[in-house]
Amino acid sequence: MSLRPRGPTVALVDDLRDLLTRAAELAAAHRAGLADRPVARPADPAVLRAAFGGPLPAGPADPASVLEELARAAEPGLVATAGPRFFGFVIGGALPAATAADVLAAGWDQNGFNAVLSPAAAAAEEVAGAWLKELLGLPATASAGFVTGGQAANTVGLAAARHHVLAEAGWDVERDGLAGAPRVRVVASEERHATIDRALRLLGFGTRAVEPVRARPDGAIDVQDLERALGDRPQIVCLQAGNVNTGACDDLRTACELAHRHGAWVHVDGAFGLWAAANPGTAALLDGAELADSWACDGHKWLNVPYDSGFAFCAHPEVHAEAIAYRAAYLTGAGEVSGMGDLTLESSRRARGFAVWAALRELGRDGVAELVDRCCRLARRFAAALAAGGAEIANDVVLNQVLASFGDDARTDALVRAIQLDGTCWLGGTTWRGRRYLRISVSNWLTTEADVDRSAAAILRLAGR
Ligand SMILES: *Cc1c(COP(=O)(O)O)cnc(C)c1O
Repeated sequence: MSLRPRGPTVALVDDLRDLLTRAAELAAAHRAGLADRPVARPADPAVLRAAFGGPLPAGPADPASVLEELARAAEPGLVATAGPRFFGFVIGGALPAATAADVLAAGWDQNGFNAVLSPAAAAAEEVAGAWLKELLGLPATASAGFVTGGQAANTVGLAAARHHVLAEAGWDVERDGLAGAPRVRVVASEERHATIDRALRLLGFGTRAVEPVRARPDGAIDVQDLERALGDRPQIVCLQAGNVNTGACDDLRTACELAHRHGAWVHVDGAFGLWAAANPGTAALLDGAELADSWACDGHKWLNVPYDSGFAFCAHPEVHAEAIAYRAAYLTGAGEVSGMGDLTLESSRRARGFAVWAALRELGRDGVAELVDRCCRLARRFAAALAAGGAEIANDVVLNQVLASFGDDARTDALVRAIQLDGTCWLGGTTWRGRRYLRISVSNWLTTEADVDRSAAAILRLAGR
């Protein structure tokens, strides 16, 4: 098959098969080199821009040379986030089958909007959605929207909450908006993730709608203070499974029961922490999670699916659809939500369920449990190695997050910079309870004990200078 239009340059590769093979070669070579290269090299933005830049090309180019040009331009600016020693933010890698599935999804070019555009994408998401609910301990009857990530999942969950609590108050927010509506109280921990605030802004609540609740020293919500903050309806309670600093999970059973006694909708942000439910060793942290009304979870963090991939679950599928639905008639005769496009913020979108299905098929129930367990075990190993070298560990390592300091804030920040420049591993700094810490997140399926030992040794070496 010949690609048209043909550019003015000599064709290096003249069909799509060769082009995809070459792309796969480049991607695989990148992955193969991840374990040995510096995790993040200092990249000069001006050099990168120049490599990508210059004037807007006047005419077409040969696809094969476009690919080579892209690979050359990008290479100095690629960060080994998919590799085994990237411990910054909360970042997963990408499992082999999930990566390949996303390549197929691009090749198939399926639109994930609905089952008419892609019966295959719809079926994959239905099956993967059911698998996810089972793994995460959520009700089998919940709806599952395949969204771009935790931000979108929190926005969808809070949109469903908004619909429900205002409908109960006799207000149709989809038709009439928020002007003149009863004021909705949003009760949320001071330790909520920043994406909750952005969702509240986007949904028209404004961040001043938040009634802040104190957190315990470990970062989980203070349930007594939650009780104090609860008031009259309409109200929404935001809980969290997996604090980005400490990994702490709210006492979901107590908090859900309390919130429901006050007639609140409960949304749980479990971007990475919800995965603790899939591992028998950590499942107790998520006790009571199933009692909530909506949940946000990420695929591209702990499940190690390529970007972008998250899940918006809702215990009340009809509420989910009424808040988000693309059109008014969203129910089929069977009382089921008709389309995946009624559960996500996008209409046309990548068929991202294929990669999720592939990751779950590759790992199975035991593989997911083992992945979560291993990351937690490696986080404890990391903390122990740093503590043995003189670090103060600020958190109880209940999950995959570790906070470490080696003295005052200035010293800790200087150490973070030194670690990032050294390139053995990558991690960021954070402020926790008024002090600066190194923040370590172990979320990658590739990370081994040797990676942790090598990284801890590098950190201790740099700390000793
Ligand atoms: C990462 C994270 C988010 C945001 O998720 P994205 O996928 O980056 O949009 C929200 N909440 C928590 C607790 C997170 O860790």
